[in-house]
Amino acid sequence: MTEPLFGRIALIGAGLIGGSIARRARESGTLAREVVVSARSPETLRRVRELGFADRVEEDPAEAVKGAGLVILCVPVGAFAGVMARIAPHLEPGAILSDVGSTKGSVVRDLQPLCPPGVHLVPAHPMAGTEYSGPDAGFATLFEGRYCIVTPLPGTDPAAVETLREFWRRCGSMVESMDPVTHDKVVAIVSHLPHLIAFTICGTADDLGEETREGVLKFAASGFRDFTRIAASDVAMWRDVFLNNREAVLEMLARFTEDAQAFGRAIRRGEEEFIVDRIRRGRKIRRSLIERKQA
Ligand code: NAP
Repeated sequence: MTEPLFGRIALIGAGLIGGSIARRARESGTLAREVVVSARSPETLRRVRELGFADRVEEDPAEAVKGAGLVILCVPVGAFAGVMARIAPHLEPGAILSDVGSTKGSVVRDLQPLCPPGVHLVPAHPMAGTEYSGPDAGFATLFEGRYCIVTPLPGTDPAAVETLREFWRRCGSMVESMDPVTHDKVVAIVSHLPHLIAFTICGTADDLGEETREGVLKFAASGFRDFTRIAASDVAMWRDVFLNNREAVLEMLARFTEDAQAFGRAIRRGEEEFIVDRIRRGRKIRRSLIERKQA
């Protein structure tokens, strides 16, 4: 039997991601001996107790982090600064402080200045999720076969980084390291821009006249349906992602807008070759994702 990596871990936030880590830790037995979970609202605290995926549930995050060898922030990135101010004085010397936030530049900005000496800050982002949120949405296999990107800062204790990488490997993930700036650009194109487009296309459909909108909803072909699935994602999480990855999202949006306009011009001019080339590129990218088992 593999020894657990940690005695106690504390998860701050008990939604899709926090709830999935907790379930994984409870089921595998190789991550931690004790899982402490802190949640914000009384309803979530009650639901976590009912679901039973934590050994201990704490209302106060400062209580939850005491004695924990690993603390993972699992709340929307806009809440990081406030949570950090609350927990920083209570972090255990030698502990690893990590997170699952979808943006990394803002996480470093909000956590590093308050990180006490002797606590190892190792930000991370599991590239796994669904459009569901809250404590009921999590499941133990969420991270299996998915990438987790770790974004350690220069000078961080290599042993702490390796321990966190091992934690995610034991969650079933494939682990990669990246600097926060590169991470934020990569996720802007693979995740944030597609969500922006999905929210926009649903808004556009909603703005159409009553008659057309009925038709859209009634005959929604798979293309539009896929957008509505993405657009059903959590409001607070996505508000915070756009506000905290502003530069990278705006850069990718500008490039996308140029490319979309070029596509529109080709349609207007009847440039068959251009149109076929774009469609072929899309098909090629889809095939390579399937080959990499990331589809
Ligand atoms: P979620 O299901 O909505 O859960 C969020 C949790 O954070 C809930 O326990 C919520 O408490 C708590 N919370 C919300 N606002 C808070 C605040 N201002 N202060 C303290 N606690 C607060 O969200 P999630 O999908 O697990 O996302 C959590 C983190 O993972 C985010 O940083 C997100 O960027 C990242 N992430 C998400 C995905 C994804 O696909 N969903 C993938 C990778 C990474 P209440 O229930 O009491 O409101």
